[in-house]
Amino acid sequence: MACNSSETTDDGGFVMPCLSCASTYQAEIAAEMMIHFSGLKNLDKPGIRAFPKLVVCLVCGFSRFTVPESELPFLANGAPARENATPERCL
Ligand SMILES: [Zn+2]
Repeated sequence: MACNSSETTDDGGFVMPCLSCASTYQAEIAAEMMIHFSGLKNLDKPGIRAFPKLVVCLVCGFSRFTVPESELPFLANGAPARENATPERCL
């Protein structure tokens, strides 16, 4: 079966089909999310707040998003973004 996935949006943008059901019936919506590190050692760490754009498949519900580039170092280091939470400082 040929994979014809080169559909475009009204403004000429490329539409990537759903990775689960291959539908292009999707909606892009703004989201606010809190990313938490898993594991007991991370229970006391505040999460990382992110505002990604969600692409939701309106057929099966499969969703995908990209974490903003500014938050990637915090994910890579396992350290949350600076907030009003008490910073971990060792003397
Ligand atoms: Zn789908």
